[in-house]
Amino acid sequence: MRHIAIIGSGPAGYYTAEAAQKRWGDEIEVDIFDMLPVPYGLIRFGVAPDHQSIKGVSRRYEKTALSDNVRFVGNVKVGEDISIPELQSLYDAVVIATGAPHDRKLGLPGEDLANIFGSAEFVGWYNGHPQFAGLDPDLSGKHAVVIGMGNVALDIARILAKSEAEFEGADIVSHALQSLLASNLSSITILGRRGPHQIMMTPKELGELAALERASPRVDRDDLPDEEEDMLLEPGLRKSVNHLRSFAAIPESVHAEKPVEIHFDMFASPTAFEGDGKVSRVKVERTEVQQGRAVGTGEIYDVPADIVVSCIGYRSSPIPDVPFDERAGKFANDEGRILPGIYCVGWAKRGPSGTIGTNRPDGFGVVDLIAEDIDAGVLGRADKKGREGFDAIAAQRGIGIVTFRDWKKIEEAEERAAREGAPREKFVDIEAMIRAAN
Ligand code: NAP
Repeated sequence: MRHIAIIGSGPAGYYTAEAAQKRWGDEIEVDIFDMLPVPYGLIRFGVAPDHQSIKGVSRRYEKTALSDNVRFVGNVKVGEDISIPELQSLYDAVVIATGAPHDRKLGLPGEDLANIFGSAEFVGWYNGHPQFAGLDPDLSGKHAVVIGMGNVALDIARILAKSEAEFEGADIVSHALQSLLASNLSSITILGRRGPHQIMMTPKELGELAALERASPRVDRDDLPDEEEDMLLEPGLRKSVNHLRSFAAIPESVHAEKPVEIHFDMFASPTAFEGDGKVSRVKVERTEVQQGRAVGTGEIYDVPADIVVSCIGYRSSPIPDVPFDERAGKFANDEGRILPGIYCVGWAKRGPSGTIGTNRPDGFGVVDLIAEDIDAGVLGRADKKGREGFDAIAAQRGIGIVTFRDWKKIEEAEERAAREGAPREKFVDIEAMIRAAN
């Protein structure tokens, strides 16, 4: 029997467990650790609450979770409750699948002003992440600025703009819904430091902006390159650029019918934030794209901003005893190998890119590495204690593990508490989750 510890129960963690099970069947035991009492990582806390169909993938993870040789071990902080060397003494392989939960900083003057948030915090707030549920952004102003032209920026702009009816069926937590519905926003500026051909927003999601009830997307015609140049783009990007072209063609009369404007301000790089204690404007430098890079032109202007959300990507969180690449913000690894017996997968390995599905080949890939290392004798003999050894330590230290069965009780309680039309009302603090589990 071989034993694998996976740290992190998001897509990368569960695909790794699935791959291990497919390869070794009953000859393997997998423990999936999570610091929270609830599984699925970004599926629960990252995917937009109005994109419920994407969350359906958790049913696949549940199938893996319910098999006898895979176990969810929630409410355990690796690095605090138990160390990596201790896990290594118990498990043949330790796989880090902790994602990239922290915001990258812009490093600009004024970034610490009130009402400037990173997307991890802001998304965590409306998705009920216990760490960010108390964020309490002030939405009483008229102007929001969202920095970045990726799918996270798009999610946030859309969530800021939606009407009550458009949240029907969403599992946005009630505190965020109330706050958003009371907001006074009339403009949402998406700042992109490069142009339409460098947009990272995917077409299906970008197209949704045109159908919003209260908001209308605005693109300046002058920002669009010649149409023939679109032919050189890969098909997905070409579709996104087509959406931008159609936004640029929306007549003023249609914009005038909607109370909220979502303005794409492209070739626009933030340089500083200003305000009296709280942000009130962003200093922006006009850019040109030269050989794919945004280069400042020296032209500076102000964009009014009562709230700012920076969506420029994420960093992983280091774990004691595991080499970390500070510059790249992820674990130092060679194609998934960190040290003998320690691996990483998903965003912890490659940084915050790709879709949920990208994690599947990643999970199967790391299991290939483990198999190679078993065959090469790198992982030693099959004589580790695995979960039995962990349970003994947990009992000794009084670590209150939350199992998958416990999670199902939390899930049922959340479903019972749902407001009409919503699939669930999430618990937003750890104590409440544990009470529901018990
Ligand atoms: P992303 O796709 O990498 O986009 C980051 C954006 O931030 C880019 O537009 C980038 O511009 C900009 N940026 C970076 N540094 C900047 C700086 N210093 N100043 C100004 N702008 C800066 O990242 P993301 O939106 O956080 O998404 C992360 C991953 O999750 C992506 O793979 C995304 O597709 C995925 N995701 C998918 C969905 C979905 O499928 N529905 C939803 C959410 C997230 P440059 O290009 O110029 O660097």
